[in-house]
Amino acid sequence: MIEAFRRHIALTSDEPLALEVDRAEGSHIFLKDGRKIIDFISGISVSSIGHRHPRVLDAIRTQLDRHLHIMVYGEFVQEPQVRFACNLASRLPDSLQTMYFTMTGTEANEGALKLAKKFTGRSGMIAFERSYHGDTHGSLSVTGRSVYRDPFQPLLPNVTILPFDNEAALESIDRETACVITEPIQGEGGIRVPAKSWMKALRARCDETGAILIFDEVQTGFARTGTLFAFEHFGVIPDILTLAKAIGGGMPLGAFVSRSELFDTFRRDPPLSHVTTFGGHPVSCAAADAALHVLLEERLADRALEIEKHVRVRLRHQAITEIRGMGCLLGMQLRDAAVLRSVVRTCLDRGVLLGSTLHSDTLVRLAPPLNIPIEVLDEAIDIILSALDEQTLN
Ligand code: PMP
Repeated sequence: MIEAFRRHIALTSDEPLALEVDRAEGSHIFLKDGRKIIDFISGISVSSIGHRHPRVLDAIRTQLDRHLHIMVYGEFVQEPQVRFACNLASRLPDSLQTMYFTMTGTEANEGALKLAKKFTGRSGMIAFERSYHGDTHGSLSVTGRSVYRDPFQPLLPNVTILPFDNEAALESIDRETACVITEPIQGEGGIRVPAKSWMKALRARCDETGAILIFDEVQTGFARTGTLFAFEHFGVIPDILTLAKAIGGGMPLGAFVSRSELFDTFRRDPPLSHVTTFGGHPVSCAAADAALHVLLEERLADRALEIEKHVRVRLRHQAITEIRGMGCLLGMQLRDAAVLRSVVRTCLDRGVLLGSTLHSDTLVRLAPPLNIPIEVLDEAIDIILSALDEQTLN
């Protein structure tokens, strides 16, 4: 199987984990060789309610017996899609009541950028250093790390990348700016939480200039940071909210959400300005609806905050210079990349899956499922501490 994997699956690094999965359940991944691994990164912020939640499985089974794909997006009334849209809309502010479903996060961001350009009739786009918005051409154009952009130039024109969390730089947002896109808390950039005052200033500058403010909550959404959406921490509401990852309870789904006034521009000049075949797949939407019920009924936003508290108390070590982030989107800052690699490797050997973030090689990502049982959380923390101890001794 490993040989076939290496031969036929296009790889994106020379060092894939290449672990053979047998099955997954709750906070654990079970490997073919009999090992049981604690998933401390949740498939990169996807499995927030754990793997194979029974409510999600039931919803998927029910939908499988009804229908799969019927027709391209936005034509037929598909009950799972509409039911989930109503449920999600009821948790969002009045200005975020209309949503367009996609399959992935990058597609949600592509749609958001197009929507902002079409609505404003402007072409300028502003993003921030160390941001990550996806790997298709538009999202990559607004991703704030040139090492990933450069091999694919030319990308979209009229993109300006500003320093993150820097009020003075917001002056660059002007009346040519169609949109400003940011993660409320940078994920791949190294779990960076900006100042509340910066977020407020960003909102004010967008209001002043008529620029559309896009919050990419692909990674921060669905209770991961301790509120259903991270924008709630800052008291700032975006014009467009983009979602993916945990939204589908383990199934592929994304969305960009805004007010109907913006979406009206997709209906004309020309009609069908933005279409997709599989966006809002009925099985994914059925799973998403069940996952949202689970998040709310099990009060997993509060649980994310309890886990943060527990981690901050227990995960103390001289090798850690800082723990940053919110809820279950935390980063453990180490001194150098070699230490990180060694700690991550030792933890994996002892049964805890960790990783770094895309733009940082000294920060360990800590993003367990929000319903990880306390004893499993403690087991993972003990293993991390023992791996750090070994580093210090070496
Ligand atoms: N935005 C953010 C903030 C992300 O973290 C990611 C994925 N890591 C994406 C967009 C892209 O999502 P996808 O991989 O589903 O295209």
